[in-house]
Amino acid sequence: MASDILVFGEIRGGTLKKAVKELIGTARIIAEGTGGSIDAVLIGDGAQEAAESLKEFGLRKIYISESEVFKEYSTEGYAKFLADLVQEISTGYVLLGATSQGRDLASRVTAKVDGVMFSDCVDVRYEGDKVVAKRPVYSGRLFIEITPAGERPVFITIRPNNMPPAEPAGGSVEIVSRPAGVTAESIRALVKEIIPLAGGRPDVTEAEVIIAGGRAMKDASNFKILEELADLLGAAVGASRAAVDAGYVEHGLQVGHTGKIVNPKLYIACGISGAIQHLAGMRTSKVIVAINKDPNAPIFEKANYGIVGDLFDVVPIMTEEIKKIL
Ligand SMILES: Cc1cc2nc3c(=O)[nH]c(=O)nc-3n(C[C@H](O)[C@H](O)[C@H](O)COP(=O)(O)OP(=O)(O)OC[C@H]3O[C@@H](n4cnc5c(N)ncnc54)[C@H](O)[C@@H]3O)c2cc1C
Repeated sequence: MASDILVFGEIRGGTLKKAVKELIGTARIIAEGTGGSIDAVLIGDGAQEAAESLKEFGLRKIYISESEVFKEYSTEGYAKFLADLVQEISTGYVLLGATSQGRDLASRVTAKVDGVMFSDCVDVRYEGDKVVAKRPVYSGRLFIEITPAGERPVFITIRPNNMPPAEPAGGSVEIVSRPAGVTAESIRALVKEIIPLAGGRPDVTEAEVIIAGGRAMKDASNFKILEELADLLGAAVGASRAAVDAGYVEHGLQVGHTGKIVNPKLYIACGISGAIQHLAGMRTSKVIVAINKDPNAPIFEKANYGIVGDLFDVVPIMTEEIKKIL
């Protein structure tokens, strides 16, 4: 199969997502094995500036389009542009973040070009003469390893915070401006507005640290103690479904099976029992800290560090202690 790799650089609000450097790091792992070259594609407002910021990353070409038709994200428009490019340059691998946009796009483009898709991967390596991708299955209770068979292009979506981000590697890159190849009339659904979460904290899917609260928070106003700790650490605030259903926080913060899949370096679960549907969203976190009054709460089976205690005592103490060392 073709050996080159194409990285899809997601831009949100004119800024390149942090996970793109992790995709370039992954592309390098594949390129070392296949001997292929690494290209990137950037679509939408800010593509030119984002391309400039990737100049030092050892890429061969960066394809960009800042066409008016890509001002707002649309599955149809972006998918057509990406599918046309993948077919034209006959790339072997396409890497996208396992973000809402990356997931949306990858499945559509895979179908368009008759490729194969490895979704939601947490690790990618080159072994023997094959790319091996690892992904969770059964709500994260098991992992499987998959490897491409055949000649079709392979689309890999990778969860943020798993692969090491690439460092600049020098080299000279060619920035290639491409026509949109799609008209506004052909697009039937557009994202009109992306409304940032209140508080301006990072999105849970990208955050390196998450402070999450459950039903035990008892009231929306009590989330203030988690927010204070989160802001000290530059963390996101997350929640269990029970906390969301009770109206304490907005649904965008829900972690789990019917919420967001997260993968931070540190997940602090405050007053969350550890139901299987919650674990499905956060069990791949690198370090899990659980604060719970009940020593038999299931979350302690998954936690690296457990604190048996009342979160309303423990969290303020943590906040004060962290303030001392920051
Ligand atoms: C189809 C389906 C999908 C679902 N999807 C999701 C999902 O995406 N995400 C999700 O989270 N859930 C999901 N659920 C719900 C899930 O089954 C649980 O009901 C939910 O996770 C429980 O939330 P909780 O841990 O906050 O509440 P509880 O299970 O009520 O746990 C509260 C915990 O807080 C502890 N506690 C109480 N007071 C204190 C205190 N003061 N200090 C410290 N600890 C205290 C208690 O000991 C208890 O362990 C789903 C369920 C279904 C059926």
